[in-house]
Amino acid sequence: MALIVHKYGGTSMGSTDRIRNVAKRVAKWARAGHQMVVVPSAMSGETNRLLGLAKDLSPTSASPALMRELDMIASTGEQVSVGLLAIALQAEGMDAVSYTGWQVGVATDNSYTKARIESIDDAKVKADLDAGRVVVITGFQGVDEDRNITTLGRGGSDTSAVAIAAAIQADECLIYTDVDGVYTTDPRVVPEARRMSTISFEEMLEMASLGSKVLQIRSVEFAGKYRVPMRVLSSFTPWDIDINEEAKSGTLITFEEDENMEQAVVSGIAFNRDEAKVTLLGVPDKPGIAFQILGPVADANIDVDVIIQNVSQDGKTDFSFTVHRNDYQRAMELLEKTVGPAVQAAKVVGDQRICKVSIVGIGMRSHVGVASKMFRSLSEEGINIQMITTSEIKTSVVIDEKYMELAVRALHRAFDLDQEIEA
Ligand code: ASP
Ligand code: MG
Repeated sequence: MALIVHKYGGTSMGSTDRIRNVAKRVAKWARAGHQMVVVPSAMSGETNRLLGLAKDLSPTSASPALMRELDMIASTGEQVSVGLLAIALQAEGMDAVSYTGWQVGVATDNSYTKARIESIDDAKVKADLDAGRVVVITGFQGVDEDRNITTLGRGGSDTSAVAIAAAIQADECLIYTDVDGVYTTDPRVVPEARRMSTISFEEMLEMASLGSKVLQIRSVEFAGKYRVPMRVLSSFTPWDIDINEEAKSGTLITFEEDENMEQAVVSGIAFNRDEAKVTLLGVPDKPGIAFQILGPVADANIDVDVIIQNVSQDGKTDFSFTVHRNDYQRAMELLEKTVGPAVQAAKVVGDQRICKVSIVGIGMRSHVGVASKMFRSLSEEGINIQMITTSEIKTSVVIDEKYMELAVRALHRAFDLDQEIEA
């Protein structure tokens, strides 16, 4: 017997028929002797619908007062889901009870629409489990210290599930979703992409932060911090599939690099089109320049990703960095009007048509020549690299977005990611 958390995404909860299937699957696990907590998302499309209603009434940019109400509204999608799922479980003959985040003490900070979970009071959940109940808890939300309802950001139910799993010390957190695991890259771009049976937590963290959309990054951070074993698996298998087979399916995110782990130098390729590049040309190369540029950018709440500053020969240098595409206009305005003139930049230029492509793998720690292989493969395709950044287990390049798919395919091939690896 184990203590298990299941998380179901919006597609799995998309209709009463599907909710019935979720209930049947959960009941199967409970009947096999496991203690079960289930964290569902809102029915698919529901969060968008709810936020759309709010937008109809106030299309203006978000004030804190408005953000509070957005969370009030968006959180209801999950409340409906847990109630429906508890009813469906009861109809299956299970003893089941539903709770919203605040009812089981999911305490968060007060940053509306992107709150962070601070603690969870597990007493109630444990008591229900001990009484033989299936406990269904809303994803995506909690409550701040003044009892305002908060949400955790889009896709936040993954994080709720992992946080709850950590709080109750679950044996495993299973994330049921509409893909059957984590792939070497997005199969829509590379049809030969392979599902990995395991991926290390660090690699998953990089993949999530570099653009793989399978899991909300905070859920992976949580899993790492509390060492929660987490598995991504398909919600499209028939609910009555053999439980032992199901328990081994999908992709397990592991903390130990055991011998059975797939030993590829590069494990996966991530990409995203969400960034834009800005450059200050001809800025004086002297102490304090990076701070004078990036200080005001940070004060304007604009996140910066890749940063490049070159050496200078004539006392002048160029300074480039990338920001989220949503922040591009604001960043350009700030640089053109204030920062550029303040640091006496010769010119400010920007480019929205870029993308970032990254190779990720813990094997990069112990292998040389990985980055150069990446650069060779891109050069063979005639792709110009605009920026490069590296860390211990990843190398990222910024390139023209029109070559993104070509680059991903070429790299997938170059690192043999379509080949099955001998364990
Ligand atoms: N329902 C929320 C969303 O659509 C949270 C989630 O699904 O994880 O973003
Ligand atoms: Mg999701």
